[in-house]
Amino acid sequence: MTIPVYTMTAVDEIPVIRERLRRAFRTGKAKPIEYRKQQLLALAYMLQDNDTRFKEAMMADLHRPATEADFLEIKPTITEAKFAYDNVSKWATPESPALSFNWFAMKPTIRKEAKGIVLIISPFNYPVTLLLGPLAGAIAAGNACVMKPSELTPAFSALLAELVPKYLDPEMYVVVNGAVPETTKLLELQWDHILYTGGARVARIVLTAAAQTLSPVTTELGGKSPAFIDPKCDLKVTAKRLMWGKITNAGQTCVAPDYVLVPKDFVDKFVEACIKTLNEFYPQGAEKSGSFARIISPAHFARIKAQLDATKGKIVYGGSTNAEKKFIEPTLVVNVRDDDSLMKEEIFGPVLPIVAVESLDEALEIVNSRDHPLALYAFSKDAAYKAKVFNNTHSGACIANETLIHVGAEGLPFGGIGPSGAGAHTGKYSFDTFTHLRSTLDNPGWLELILGGRYPPYTDKKLAS
Ligand code: NAD
Repeated sequence: MTIPVYTMTAVDEIPVIRERLRRAFRTGKAKPIEYRKQQLLALAYMLQDNDTRFKEAMMADLHRPATEADFLEIKPTITEAKFAYDNVSKWATPESPALSFNWFAMKPTIRKEAKGIVLIISPFNYPVTLLLGPLAGAIAAGNACVMKPSELTPAFSALLAELVPKYLDPEMYVVVNGAVPETTKLLELQWDHILYTGGARVARIVLTAAAQTLSPVTTELGGKSPAFIDPKCDLKVTAKRLMWGKITNAGQTCVAPDYVLVPKDFVDKFVEACIKTLNEFYPQGAEKSGSFARIISPAHFARIKAQLDATKGKIVYGGSTNAEKKFIEPTLVVNVRDDDSLMKEEIFGPVLPIVAVESLDEALEIVNSRDHPLALYAFSKDAAYKAKVFNNTHSGACIANETLIHVGAEGLPFGGIGPSGAGAHTGKYSFDTFTHLRSTLDNPGWLELILGGRYPPYTDKKLAS
C-alpha cells in the first residue's frame, strides 16, 4: 500500500491559506472557461490515474469493497467532472431574462459570476463523491476552493492532500486536513460560500459560525429515509434493491433506506424475501465476506450497537457484532413500533427496522409526523399507490422501485428539505450553488425621452404622463 501519512494542517496556517487563495482569485485567472476546463480535466485524471490508490485508501478507512468504491465514488465523480467539462461553456453563458418590453433597450442580462473563495466540508462516508463532486461545480463556476475532508478517513484525506497540488492549481485549490480545531478555525473566517455535508449536530455549529461572518451556506444533511412497501411490488427485485441500499457501505449512506413500512399481513413474506437476498449476498455470512464494509469508528459502532441493544423489536436476521473489527452484521428487526430506539435517530448502519402498518394512511401518518427525510422510497407496481405516497409526503427526493442511485443522475438536484438540508448539488446544480447571478443592464441616454419624467420637481403633468 502507498498511503501517505495523515497530517493535520497547522491552525495558524489556515488564515494564510485563505488569503493566498483570495489573492490568486483576484488575479482573475479562473475567469477564462479554458482554465476551468483544464482544471476539470485534471480532476478527472487525478481520479483515473490514482484509481487503485483511492480504492486502497477507502479499504483502509472503511474496509470499503472495491466494487462499491468504483460504482458509487470514483466513476460517478469522474463523470461529474467530465459533465461539467462538457457543459461549463453553456452554463456560464450570460442569460437574457424574460422581461416586459419596457426593459428591452437596456439589455438586461444575468452574468454568471464565481462567488469567490468557497469552502467544502465533507463527511467520512462517501469521501470522494461528496468532496470532489461539488468541487467540480466550484471549479466550473470559477471559484477558488478550500476542501476539508473528514478526519475519520485519514488514508483518503492524506492521499487527497498529496494529489491535489500535483494535479490542480495549488494557488486556487487547497486541502485543509483536520478535525474540530481546524474546522473551527476555518469557520471563523468569511467565505463566499460554504457547502457543508454531514450530520445535523455539526450543521448547527456550522450555521451558527457562518451567521457571524455572513457566509452563505448550503447544507446537505441526513435523517431517517423511509421505504413504503406495497404488497403489489415485484418482491424479489424489491428485496434486492432495498437490501443493497441498506448494506452498501455497511449502511453508512445518507440516502440509505433507514426503515420500512410494511402492511401487517405482508411482513412475513417480505422478511422471507429479504433473508433470501441477504443469504445470496453473503453465502458465508457478512463477516467473512469481502463485499461488506465496516463501521467507521468505535464511537459510531457504539452508537448503533446501543440502538440495537435497546430495541423492543425482534431480531429475525443478523444481530451479531464485533467491536474490535467494528463489524455489525446486516440485521432485520420486526415488531418495531414508532417509539422504538431504532426509530429515534438516523441509524447510519446495516440495521433495518420493519414497522408493520394497518394501512397506507397509517404509514403516511408515521412519515409525516417526522422531519422531512433526505430520500423517500416506494416499492410498488401500482401507479396510484406511488402517486399517493409521493403526493402526500415531503422529502429531498422521492424514488420508486430503487434506492441510492438517483444521487448519481447528473440532471437531478441532490439535496434535502428542511432538517435534511437546504440547497442542492450535482451537475448544473453544483455550478449554480457556487455561482452568483449578477444582474446588469445598460441604459442608453436617449431613453430620457421616456424616463425623464421621474426627476423632481414632481408635477401633476408628469404624474399623468
Ligand atoms: P459529521 O457531521 O460528524 O462530520 C462532517 C464534517 O464536519 C467533518 O468534516 C468533520 O470534521 C466536521 N466536524 C465534526 N465536528 C465538528 C465541529 N464540532 N465543528 C466543526 N466541524 C466539525 O458527519 P459524519 O459523521 O462524517 O457523516 C454522517 C452524517 O452526514 C449523517 O448524518 C449523514 O446522513 C450525513 N450525510 C449527508 C449527506 C448528504 O449529501 N445529504 C451525505 C453523506 C452524509
